[in-house]
Amino acid sequence: MIICDSISSIQSVIAKERQNGHSIAFVPTMGALHQGHLNLIKAAQKKADKVVCSIYVNPTQFNNSDDLINYPRLLEEDIKKLETVNCDILFTPSDEVMYQKTSTLKFNFGELDQVLEGAFRPNHFSGVALVVSKLFHIVQPDYAFFGQKDLQQLTIIKKLVQELLFNVQIESVPIQREPDGLAMSSRNGRLNPLERQEAVIFFECLSNARKILLENHDRQATISNVQQAFQHHSAKLEYFDIVDDSDLKPRHENYLRPDTVLCIAGYIGNVRLIDNMYLIS
Ligand code: AMP
Repeated sequence: MIICDSISSIQSVIAKERQNGHSIAFVPTMGALHQGHLNLIKAAQKKADKVVCSIYVNPTQFNNSDDLINYPRLLEEDIKKLETVNCDILFTPSDEVMYQKTSTLKFNFGELDQVLEGAFRPNHFSGVALVVSKLFHIVQPDYAFFGQKDLQQLTIIKKLVQELLFNVQIESVPIQREPDGLAMSSRNGRLNPLERQEAVIFFECLSNARKILLENHDRQATISNVQQAFQHHSAKLEYFDIVDDSDLKPRHENYLRPDTVLCIAGYIGNVRLIDNMYLIS
């Protein structure tokens, strides 16, 4: 695997691949890699000749400074993991490379970034859009792969690409889960053993909610069931909603559609976790 930490070095490596007629797929990450990330690399390998992964903990998407400080940084282990799946190129820029000057540019996605995560993480998606735009300019991939785990991010990136005419095809990959159902996340490593057991509540609530909605088509009964489960639990619910995956608007009828998705977020101790599940899988 070729590892680059400057814009000029990654661009000259990619230029050589282009000269050889190779297509490029890109997998942006913040590191602390797990099987979910590696699945993105594997999906990317099926689509393009060469795969570029980036590892960069982007400060502008953190609205909580403790979360940024505590975010796991495990570059040596990540490199080994990427080598086991034969990733071709790794980009590991520093803050100085990505933000030569303090950025004042802000993105506004209208209602898309005000709901769900956006309601609890002001400016988060502006920071995501900023860093993804920079990375797309640097790498200029044919394809970029994102996980359904961050469903709202995926919707917003599709909008970003459409509005800014990025010449890249966005591909999504299903959520990779632990054996007990917990969605894999770099943040799971911050859970103590008891919290790790308790964290399965997000998956259990989504599974039960999905069952209730499929059986009863009753939005309020489904939401109440989730709220009740959290009332008797140490975990704290931030939101649960049933939405349309294209505009993230709450769905109030006609649930039995492939774009109906159940979204949840909350805290176990001081670790914030998110998850989602499509009604029809
Ligand atoms: P992150 O490093 O958390 O920014 O994630 C990098 C990419 O991996 C994003 O596109 C995420 O949606 C994706 N991802 C993270 N966790 C999972 C998972 N459990 N399953 C599938 N994709 C994931």
